[in-house]
Amino acid sequence: MAMNQIPGHNIYIGGVLALKNKAALERANITHIVSVIRLRSDEFLSGYQHHKIDVDDIDDENILGSFPDAVNFIQSGLDSGGSVLVHCAMGKSRSATICIAYLMRQQRDAERRSITPNVALGMIREGRPFCEPNEGFMDQLDLYYNMVCPDDLESQPIYQRWVYRREVEESVACGRAPEMRSVRFEDELPQSEQQTAKPTEREVEIKCRKCRRGIASSKYIISHEKEKRENAKANTNADCAHIFLHPMKWMRSSLYPSASDANPNAQFTGDAPLSGRLACPNPTCGANIGKFAWQGMQCSCKSWVVPAIGLAKARVDIKELVPGNSTPAALGIRLPPGMQPAQPAQPVGPTGPAEPVKPGPERGNL
Ligand SMILES: [Zn+2]
Ligand SMILES: [Zn+2]
Repeated sequence: MAMNQIPGHNIYIGGVLALKNKAALERANITHIVSVIRLRSDEFLSGYQHHKIDVDDIDDENILGSFPDAVNFIQSGLDSGGSVLVHCAMGKSRSATICIAYLMRQQRDAERRSITPNVALGMIREGRPFCEPNEGFMDQLDLYYNMVCPDDLESQPIYQRWVYRREVEESVACGRAPEMRSVRFEDELPQSEQQTAKPTEREVEIKCRKCRRGIASSKYIISHEKEKRENAKANTNADCAHIFLHPMKWMRSSLYPSASDANPNAQFTGDAPLSGRLACPNPTCGANIGKFAWQGMQCSCKSWVVPAIGLAKARVDIKELVPGNSTPAALGIRLPPGMQPAQPAQPVGPTGPAEPVKPGPERGNL
């Protein structure tokens, strides 16, 4: 059958042949058509409102980015009293993906909960049993679900991170580092878009062992605990020699050595190494504190981290931040009203400024 209705909705799914059956389109009152395919000709589309999504049916094609516009278009078709045909080549993967996204968004309730991609797929299969998005598209629908079907994807950190990872993967597949403008330097992003440390994670501060300059804190660390546990099962229980970090602005000079230091925000598009050393951000120190590899790197615990920006544990000091002050309030002791807590002793500043490098024999190698 060329096209099938999603039960309860004036939405039809079909293959490219559905376009040729004018009588069937008319019977179904089709007014709007979504083509989820690279169409060479639109000879069958005159007389219809048309929305085109140029994607191939392959796992790593970005179909997620087209969800909000497609959802809007389908909704406008239904609101105008017409019916909508969503088609691809076979009416199996691409068109089903768009219809699932529509159903998820349409079923999102006032408490901002949506149905899962699998539930939506079940609804579609009631009309067209062989619908089956490819695995990559199902993953993208899961992301859409995790973001609770937003109308504006670009502002979503989950989406931004996903796009960033894809760009890194594409660059690496071509044997080059990602362009500087596509790298998410986490500490330059607005607070709302930054990675947040999980409440269960212990807060740590990492400093250069040589000059004591602060380098990173917990929220910039990429945990590979899960991979490590999996490897541990395989009996390779080695300690980690590296701490992996998200890109941070101080890494620019290591990651993009030929970019101009004077203007770090310039659109640097020159060549950059695929891998190399990571230098301490303190210009008077510059110690080698780790390495990076866009194509990924294997930690000593045997886990692969991709992309990898790893501090060598032997080159840095990791300080665990015990909940800072010892005021009664912090210890959970309630004081009678009006009684001021005693001033804590001289604060030892884990967040204090970096200590200057002391001139001395240690600096001899600079
Ligand atoms: Zn240093
Ligand atoms: Zn490890």
